[in-house]
Amino acid sequence: MCQSDFPAYRGQMEYVCLHCGQRYPGDSLLYTCPSCGGVFLLENTKFDELKQRSGAEWREIFDRRASTRSTALRGIFRYYELLAPLLDEEDIVYLGEGLTPIVEAAPALRDRVGVPFAYKNDGQNPSASFKDRGMACAFSYLKWLCRRHQWDEVLTVCASTGDTSAAAALYASYVGAPLKSVVLLPHGKVTPQQLSQPLGSGATVLELPGVFDDCMKVVEHLAENYRVALLNSKNSWRILGQESYAYEVAQWYGWDVSGLCIFVPIGNAGNITAVMSGFLKMLELGIITSLPRVFGVQSEHADPVYSYYAARWKIPRVAARDRHPQRGPGRHDRQPGLLPARAAPGREVHRKGRRKGLPGGAGDRTADHGRHDRGQPPRPHRLHPGRRMPGRSGQRPCAGPGGR
Ligand SMILES: [Zn+2]
Repeated sequence: MCQSDFPAYRGQMEYVCLHCGQRYPGDSLLYTCPSCGGVFLLENTKFDELKQRSGAEWREIFDRRASTRSTALRGIFRYYELLAPLLDEEDIVYLGEGLTPIVEAAPALRDRVGVPFAYKNDGQNPSASFKDRGMACAFSYLKWLCRRHQWDEVLTVCASTGDTSAAAALYASYVGAPLKSVVLLPHGKVTPQQLSQPLGSGATVLELPGVFDDCMKVVEHLAENYRVALLNSKNSWRILGQESYAYEVAQWYGWDVSGLCIFVPIGNAGNITAVMSGFLKMLELGIITSLPRVFGVQSEHADPVYSYYAARWKIPRVAARDRHPQRGPGRHDRQPGLLPARAAPGREVHRKGRRKGLPGGAGDRTADHGRHDRGQPPRPHRLHPGRRMPGRSGQRPCAGPGGR
């Protein structure tokens, strides 16, 4: 049996309130700030110790882990030191998530769009969504927490009709005791298809009278008053796990993301926050030497983040030049789903440097609600055919996962 190459480094994680800046130790279940109700991000207070290694050394470490024999390091925790370096090897839950391929667009599609681009196919995660990244981190943390406090029973709950409940139920089922999985849904508003994944994973599914927001209120009340693990997007350990997307993109492109454009659909902006945070961490450690450009794209049917910025800064909606050959050059369309670069949370995150948060967690609760209200899969975000990428020439677009 080979010796484990699991890292010896341990950090210290703290919850940091994005609204009031209050800090809380990372060894308790917290979702919103007890002082002000703001949402949290997690911060490793010993992050600066990682700077004892050069960027080149970190790149070499992460590249070497591509051939690790340690199961715990085979998925998103290849980048252990950048994620949740308080976990022990035995805590880490690995179901095959992460390290999804980046697939070049087919020639016909590339020609139609007018630039070469690629998709990171996060549909190849275990429950078929990018949410497995965050769940792997959240459930690994829960295992660590149960072991630390010797808890014999913890209820994991979420209100969701889609990917979140599917992923939460799958990981809860895999971990087993002391975790029990419950999914709350509005009565009479969910199709059998939407229930198939959580039911198939053995979750207890409860239908409540009311609408989706009523379910969220119940979930939040449970999380605030009982030993209940909330697995909706207010769970900051999920946001942390989603940073792995950025690390994988950088490694895929040989740690050179200069000129790269990344398009990330936004739900409540949790995912794009994670993506930007990941790139900023790598920049700070010298693992990458420049940042990619990150664009948030939001459906006009559920656009709380767009509306937040548009109202605050009185930003007009983008009128993108339509140069589709069949519709004639120079025609202008309103593109309400395309977030202006000036309003992109990524820009805001970049500007604020290490604060790396979104103001007030805008629209945090609305994401799954929007999905439910539509009652159908999200529409593909329409990137304008032939539209030039703003900024530098030679940029390489890469489409990312959505953000709920
Ligand atoms: Zn606060």
